[in-house]
Amino acid sequence: MTTTLETLTINHFINGAEAEGTGTATKPVYNPATGAVTGELRLASREDLEATVAAAKKAAESWGDISLAKRTAVLFKFRELVANHVDELAQLITAEHGKVLSDAKGEIGRGLEVIEFACGIPTLLKGEYSDQVSTGIDVFSFREPIGVVAGITPFNFPVMVPLWMAPMAIATGNAFILKPSGNVPSAAMLLARLFQQAGLPDGVFQVLHGDRETISGLLTHPDVDGISFVGSTPVAKHITEVATAHGKRVQALGGAKNHAIILPDADLDNAADHVAAAAFGSAGQRCMAISVAVAVGDAADLLVRKVKERALDVKVKNGTESDADMGPVITPASKQFILKTVTEAEQAGAAMVVDGRDLVVPGHEDGFWVGPTVIDHVKTEMTAYTEEIFGPVLVVVRVDTLEDGIKLINANPYGNGTAIFTSSGAAARKFQRSVDVGMIGINVPLPVPVAYYSFGGWKASLFGDKHIYGPEGVSFYTRGKVITSRWPETHHASGASYNFPSN
Ligand code: NAD
Repeated sequence: MTTTLETLTINHFINGAEAEGTGTATKPVYNPATGAVTGELRLASREDLEATVAAAKKAAESWGDISLAKRTAVLFKFRELVANHVDELAQLITAEHGKVLSDAKGEIGRGLEVIEFACGIPTLLKGEYSDQVSTGIDVFSFREPIGVVAGITPFNFPVMVPLWMAPMAIATGNAFILKPSGNVPSAAMLLARLFQQAGLPDGVFQVLHGDRETISGLLTHPDVDGISFVGSTPVAKHITEVATAHGKRVQALGGAKNHAIILPDADLDNAADHVAAAAFGSAGQRCMAISVAVAVGDAADLLVRKVKERALDVKVKNGTESDADMGPVITPASKQFILKTVTEAEQAGAAMVVDGRDLVVPGHEDGFWVGPTVIDHVKTEMTAYTEEIFGPVLVVVRVDTLEDGIKLINANPYGNGTAIFTSSGAAARKFQRSVDVGMIGINVPLPVPVAYYSFGGWKASLFGDKHIYGPEGVSFYTRGKVITSRWPETHHASGASYNFPSN
């Protein structure tokens, strides 16, 4: 990055070096807490894209051939470097995303877990061997890298989501091109420098900033073999359609509308603490945020009262302030969409319990602020229920029974995460077995799987077969080979036949 007056110019990272590229288009980068433009992001030209893919292709050939011991040495060093740069990375996240510093450090922690998992790649890539499947014949299998993988990531986790992908792709022997969200590009550049310091050869990890044309170039390029995408559902669907039509392996994680069911037998103070934190943390801009509280029977009035108390207590401030609980939303457009959706719910007859629409943060009047908002008596036809709001808005839907709650969840097009708050093991078990959702929390509001499981939703929250990171990540970034082998002691012992081989 280079400084020009007050704003930073943010370059690409191509083939081992920061590069201005030949593109003439740029995009402003904002600090959402102040509304100030802090950076000017260079967007790639077709020429930049070609140079990046060519460098990746060349790098993949040698990196895929390098020993597992050398690969893991780089990953261990990278892990140490990321751990030593948590403060710097967190500051970059907060400056461009707005989330509070402690939350930014939290996402880096979850990214570190994936690097740690990837450090175990020699064990994870162990193949299988079957001795003497037929007389004198052995069969064994191993997995090879797919080649060049592009990762296209959303604004809401500038470090964690790239780290869901890159360490796994690189550990398995691929070259990885990251196209980060244009709203939060700087942390990716620091990751590139840290990979380089860790000893990663040039071209194995690159960062290319760009617009839809750049993305389209990656999706259709003959030398790109796989696409990992995380973002909203319409884009995930589009990415899947285009990239698969061009013969690429694709995993595309989409949006969400995560419901938490609260049963009357739950500890309602505990449930209200967790539901509020999961709804308003990171200003609701998490794909695992709880955005719908499904209050069952008698739980509803008390739960709404308790969540209201907590929502009114949330300290909304610049994320750099040590006592801030929640920062701004990402863009003025996002703020407008959130306000519009809340207003539509109010006009359709929902009850405003806490209204964050007019929030002003003193000293930060130009920031993109929305305060915690709670809307009760929301109906499933309201846009506040049908749309992914992606802001600090909790809608409360009241139902009579657990079964009604499960039906509601299963009728929703999304299936990313869900949670139940209860003191009944039987209810929890029924819930975990009945919901059509990929990640389920039992008295846990944000059930983001640890790195040695895999992360992925169902239905409109994931396109493609493989979940991300963990064992499914290893599988996504590799393809299997099965070898059937005979070493006859003499030529005649091999017993050639015109019949189909039988054992
Ligand atoms: P987004 O879909 O707008 O953007 C994601 C990426 O796609 C960005 O890099 C962006 O530049 C690119 N992009 C945007 N529009 C495009 C288009 N028309 N064609 C091609 N590429 C395009 O998402 P966002 O606003 O950055 O992030 C928020 C969304 O991501 C939410 O919907 C959230 O639920 C989702 N998300 C999902 C997960 C998950 O694991 N399922 C995790 C994080 C975020």
